Amino acid sequence: MTAGLPEPPRDDADVPRWTAELGLPGLVDMHVHFLPERVLRKVWAYFDEGGRHYGMNWPITYRFDEPTRVDVLRRLGVLRFAPLVYPHKPDMAAWLTDWVLDFAERTPAALPTATLYPEPGVLDYLGKALDAGARCVKVHVQVGAFDPRDPLLTPAWGLLAEAGVPVVVHCGHGPLRGDHTGLDVFAEVLDAHPTLTTVLAHAGMPEYDAALDLVRRHQRVYLDTTMVGTAFIEPLMPLPPDWPARLAADGLADRVVLGTDYPSLPYAYAEQLRAIHAWAAEDDRLGVGFLRRVVHDTPARLLGLVDTS
Ligand SMILES: [Zn+2]
Repeated sequence: MTAGLPEPPRDDADVPRWTAELGLPGLVDMHVHFLPERVLRKVWAYFDEGGRHYGMNWPITYRFDEPTRVDVLRRLGVLRFAPLVYPHKPDMAAWLTDWVLDFAERTPAALPTATLYPEPGVLDYLGKALDAGARCVKVHVQVGAFDPRDPLLTPAWGLLAEAGVPVVVHCGHGPLRGDHTGLDVFAEVLDAHPTLTTVLAHAGMPEYDAALDLVRRHQRVYLDTTMVGTAFIEPLMPLPPDWPARLAADGLADRVVLGTDYPSLPYAYAEQLRAIHAWAAEDDRLGVGFLRRVVHDTPARLLGLVDTS
């Protein structure tokens, strides 16, 4: 055990103790999902067919109504979170963005976010969302089944790069492959827009090596921890055995942010924190400083939160 590290959180109720012992006022989670009820029910129905889609059961731990889901985050000590929405077809991104801006308006811990799709109006609704204060944009290449290199998106990437608003991009092959997934595909977007602040969702799962390469190559590329290293995912898409050493050796400890996929998790929220804790415990160069940055400081900075206490 690395000197100075608290005991990892035993369960959700123990998370505030862990966070306090790290010297933090709470957590900042950059990858959470809130959706209109009708859409969320469809997403959950999909996970209920986990055996068919993923080859395994995917029981949703936090299948509660919206106020309860918000309250669970509060009790976990999540100070602020980015509620992410994403379309699976055209003509959906604008109203999902409107919905999530409204959700953030009525939910103090939620930050305003937006999403996009390659379609003629994208620059218009994205610009309006940024004007309305959106702090983060979700792009889901697998569910959206679009090519992120689509020329319709070129001005949108440019706008986001200029605004300095981070984009959480699900562009990896995991847990499911898509027509245009693969970090090599998104690497071309980054080559064309090198100043785009990008958070690779799920740390690029399962292409963790390629994700680390992109982080090294581009100053403004980050990884989120969503599902990474959990007991549920490890048998399917294991991290490289020297993952903590690689984060430490390459000075990438500042380039990792907390993400969880709450509430559609097949395990407790604390399980994600235990996975991150285990990396910090494995390499002395990471330790408490790394944990503080991952679960609070770096996501707070990316989301433009000066004071999160
Ligand atoms: Zn997600």
